[in-house]
This record gives sequence, C-alpha cells and structure tokens, in this order.
Amino acid sequence: MDCIFCKIAAGEIPSNKVYEDDQIVAFYDLDPQAPVHVLLIPKEHIASANELNDRNSEVVGHIYLTAARIAKELHLDNGYRIVNNCGVDGGQTVGHLHFHLLGGRSMKWPPG
Ligand code: 5GP
Ligand code: ZN
Repeated sequence: MDCIFCKIAAGEIPSNKVYEDDQIVAFYDLDPQAPVHVLLIPKEHIASANELNDRNSEVVGHIYLTAARIAKELHLDNGYRIVNNCGVDGGQTVGHLHFHLLGGRSMKWPPG
C-alpha cells in the first residue's frame, strides 16, 4: 500500500519523531501550523476515524494519553488543541488516521 504515514511508521520515510512505541508514532508536522505541531498516528493503517471499530479503536485512547504527555514534556502549560480531520469536508489530506497536537499559541474558535 502506498501510504505516506505507514512509511513514516515503518521508518521508510524519515521524520522527526517525538515518541514511538509498538502501537503509535508521534512526529513533527512538515508544515507546522503552530509553534508546536506534532502528529500522532497508529502504526496500523486505519484510513480515517470512519474506519474505527470495536477491534481497532483502543489505540485512540492511547494516542490521547500520549498527546497529553507530550504536551507536558513540550511545556504547553497554557493548553493545546488536538484535531482529527476526517474526510473531504473535514480537511483530511492524508488517508491514514492521525491526530494533530497544536500548541504554543492561542487557538481560534470556531476553526476555519
Ligand atoms: P490532514 O490535512 O490530513 O489532517 O493532515 C496531514 C498533515 O500531514 C499535514 O499537516 C501535513 O503538513 C502533514 N504531512 C504530510 N506529509 C508529511 C510528511 O511526509 N512528513 C510529515 N512530517 N508531515 C507530513
Ligand atoms: Zn497508512
């Protein structure tokens, strides 16, 4: 399968990794939208949040816990935002489930 995030998870495409374990990888976004912009992905290929099910969804909790831990390590003491873009209207451009951890500036609401 030609999936850029599967390749990053496998180490076939280089990335600036912040964290890795047997289930997930966190790495810096190539085109940061905030002073801190980290992507967290499951190593398993899940195309989007729409493809989550009873068998594969446990990893999402692990991703959220890890994101909170990374936010603490990166001193995002004022808060941060976690974003999942799903599908065309959600603005998803890479078809492998990922969560954006954004911080280091004040976020706007509602998002554009
Ligand atoms: P989406 O728009 O699908 O929610 O987010 C995809 C994100 O992946 C974008 O923020 C984009 O900058 C990032 N991205 C795309 N290709 C690469 C890559 O090869 N390496 C890294 N580190 N980030 C990437
Ligand atoms: Zn993939």
